[in-house]
Amino acid sequence: MLSEPEIAMNAAAVNEDVLSPEQASPMATVLSSEPEPQPDLAHAKPCRVLAIANQKGGVGKTTTAINLGTALAAIGEHVLVIDLDPQGNASTGLGIDRRSRRHSTYDVLIGEATLRDAIVATAVPRLHLAPSTLDLSGLELEIGQARDRAFRLRSAVAPLGKAEPGGPQFTYVLVDCPPSLNLLTVNAMAAANAILVPLQCEFFALEGLSQLLKTVETVRQQLNPDLVIHGVVLTMYDARNNLSAQVVADVRQFMGRKVYDTVIPRNVRVSEAPSYGKPVLVYDLKCSGSEAYLRLATEIIQREKELCVG
Ligand code: ADP
Ligand code: MG
Repeated sequence: MLSEPEIAMNAAAVNEDVLSPEQASPMATVLSSEPEPQPDLAHAKPCRVLAIANQKGGVGKTTTAINLGTALAAIGEHVLVIDLDPQGNASTGLGIDRRSRRHSTYDVLIGEATLRDAIVATAVPRLHLAPSTLDLSGLELEIGQARDRAFRLRSAVAPLGKAEPGGPQFTYVLVDCPPSLNLLTVNAMAAANAILVPLQCEFFALEGLSQLLKTVETVRQQLNPDLVIHGVVLTMYDARNNLSAQVVADVRQFMGRKVYDTVIPRNVRVSEAPSYGKPVLVYDLKCSGSEAYLRLATEIIQREKELCVG
C-alpha cells in the first residue's frame, strides 16, 4: 500500500494537464450477436468510471467486474472492463486468451499504447475489455518515480469521454483492481467517479474495510476530490449458514445505506463459468447468480441517477 506521504507526493507531482477534470433491452440480447446500433453521439450519456476494489483477494472483485459488466451490457449499457490485475483473471474469464492480448493495460500505463489500442470485443454484445498481462506486476518499478504515476489510468480513460464516430461509446467503465492497495489500485481510484466494494460474507468481512476506506479518503483529499463510495456488494452469501446472515447484518449496521439491497448468493454456476471463458449470464442465464447480477445492475443504474442528481 502507498503510505500517505507517497500519495501526497503523487498529488504534489500532479501535472496540470493530467488533473483536468474529465472526465433495456431484453436479457436474451446478451447472447445475440447482431451488430449493435451505435448511440446517437450528440446525445451520448457521460461515461461513468467505477473501480471495483478491495485489497483482500478472493472476495469477488473479478467475478463482479465480469458479471456486472455483462448484466449492464444486457440491459443496454455500453461497457468497458479494464483488467488492472496482473493475474488477468477478468481477461481469461471473458474468454480472451493470452495470444489475443496484443496490447495490454501494461502497455497503456507505460505509455506505449492508447486505451483504444488495447480494447478488444468480447463474445457479449456491448461488452469490451482492455486485457492485462503479467507484465503489469512490474509497473510500479518502472513508473514509480514518474511525476504523473498515479494518473496514468485517468489520462488513458479521459479520451473515452469524447465521442469517436464508429468506435464504441462507453457508458460504464469497470476497473477490476488487484488484491492490494498498490499503485495500480491508486491509479484506479484516481481515475474513478466512484468505488464499488465487494465484501465476502465471511467472518473477517469487515476486517480491512477501514483501511480501504482510509485509502479512499486519502485519494479523495489528495488526488481525486470527487471520488465517492458507490456501494458495498455482499458476495458469496450462503443461506444455509447462519454466519452469512450475521455478516450481512453487521455490514449493514456499519455501512448503512451504502450497502446494496442485492446480495450475491454463493452459486456453483458462478464459479464454473470462468473455466469456460464465459460470464455466468451466458453460461447459465437462469441460475441464482445470474439473476442476482442482473438485479445488482438495475440497482446500480438507479443509484447512479441519485448520485448524478444529488
Ligand atoms: P477476487 O477478484 O476478489 O480475487 P474472484 O472474483 O476471483 O475474487 O473470486 C474468488 C473465487 O470465488 C473464484 O474462484 C470465483 O469463481 C469464486 N466466486 C466468486 N463469486 C462467487 C459466487 N457468487 N458463488 C460461487 N463462487 C464465487
Ligand atoms: Mg481478481
